[in-house]
Amino acid sequence: MPDTVLSGWGRTAPSRADVVAVRSTDDVVAALTSAGQRGVLARGLGRSYGDAAQNAGGTVLDLSSLGTIDVGSDGVVRAGAGAVLADVIDALEPHGLFVPVSPGTSRVTLGGAVAADVHGKNHHRDGSFGDHVVELEVITPDGAVQRIGPSSSGEDLAHFRATVGGMGLTGVVTEVVLRAMPVPSQAVLVDTCQLGSLDAVMERMSSTDDGYRYSVAWIDATAPGAALGRGVVTQGDHAPAGPSGGVAAPPRIALPIAPPVGLVNRWTVRAFNEAWFRKAPASRDAELQTVRQFFHPLDGVGAWNRAYGPRGLVQHQCAVPDSESAVIARLLEHFRDSGAPSFLSVLKRFGPGNDCPLSFPRAGWTLAVDLPGATPGLARILDRADELVLEAGGRTYLAKDARVSPEALRAMYPRLDEWLEVRERVDPRRVLVSDLSRRLSL
Ligand SMILES: Cc1cc2nc3c(=O)[nH]c(=O)nc-3n(C[C@H](O)[C@H](O)[C@H](O)COP(=O)(O)OP(=O)(O)OC[C@H]3O[C@@H](n4cnc5c(N)ncnc54)[C@H](O)[C@@H]3O)c2cc1C
Repeated sequence: MPDTVLSGWGRTAPSRADVVAVRSTDDVVAALTSAGQRGVLARGLGRSYGDAAQNAGGTVLDLSSLGTIDVGSDGVVRAGAGAVLADVIDALEPHGLFVPVSPGTSRVTLGGAVAADVHGKNHHRDGSFGDHVVELEVITPDGAVQRIGPSSSGEDLAHFRATVGGMGLTGVVTEVVLRAMPVPSQAVLVDTCQLGSLDAVMERMSSTDDGYRYSVAWIDATAPGAALGRGVVTQGDHAPAGPSGGVAAPPRIALPIAPPVGLVNRWTVRAFNEAWFRKAPASRDAELQTVRQFFHPLDGVGAWNRAYGPRGLVQHQCAVPDSESAVIARLLEHFRDSGAPSFLSVLKRFGPGNDCPLSFPRAGWTLAVDLPGATPGLARILDRADELVLEAGGRTYLAKDARVSPEALRAMYPRLDEWLEVRERVDPRRVLVSDLSRRLSL
């Protein structure tokens, strides 16, 4: 019987698997070609929220030994797929380089970043992670070692595009070759402004995001009446070189982010959001922040997901086109009025999406809300949220997902069949499987 219990960051649907540590490409080939009936899946650091990195009753590959990082003089990084983004950021710093895309945590692997095609606060300017990949080494279930990238052609190009955002189901990525971004300094000069309504937040972001590399808004999804969606917009870019660029990292960030374990409920969430809004400056310009303060404040808080207690948390993240921006307000009203308190709600703008059929970002808005798994009627509340997203021609994000239906997924990702064609070609026996792929019949 498989002996390791694995879950996603949301801790909602754990399952057991045999975890096998691989140390080389040959080990991955051996694991794939000798796969048992319940199949094989690569796992990074388990920072996807739902069941994407689990394989109940099967094998899960731990690639953390594949963590070498080599930074070339041309700014191209060659790294094992198990390398952790935080270590890549450290390795790039002496070269005046930064990762082209960073999600809200630095505790992800490069393999996980490719498989989810992660986005950061600069999507409107720089696109998603896969847009900066030069080449991948990918091992398919027949044991073939492939090198594929955006300059491949024919079936290899289709395979590359299906792997970026493909949630580990089109091959095990063992190496990632990535173009890093030259920056004048690691520190970020940040402008912050507190705005009293959702309209004001959206107007600020629509009208000024073009002037900033990075932009994000924390919004209050619990406020009563017209204050719903008020928020704090932070926008910035890397600071010029010089002494200011060497701003020292604080030891730990004291975010009032997590109440004691099990104490996330509508009252604590409401109080937290109120306090967070009031604590923000009405307006502050050109504040120097470290990489960790600006990009990864939650990493300083540790296992804050445990504050949600044994039922865990579900994140609902959607992307909707600009023409349907009104649905953001409807979603917030829906969550608030259904008694689903979102502790942390984030709004960002997306630039155009890419050519990868399962990549999540598309031009417009993206809203992410964190909801306690113990919320009464949560499944129904989330199904209704999906309906609103679908009516708006939008989609939800597989890296955050734990419960979307196969029918909704098909409607959200119109190029699903194109992706399935590649999956059928590279893995006709469905050796690569996850709890998510079983749930969604992928
Ligand atoms: C606090 C927090 C903030 C976040 N913020 C953002 C954000 O701003 N933007 C964003 O896009 N995401 C964000 N995420 C989600 C996170 O970036 C993604 O889920 C990412 O995929 C996690 O990487 P991981 O290494 O932990 O992968 P895992 O969660 O372990 O796996 C995710 C998927 O990748 C596959 N995979 C992993 N390694 C490989 C490999 N070597 N080869 C093939 N497939 C592989 C797995 O099979 C699985 O399907 C956030 C998550 C957290 C917890």
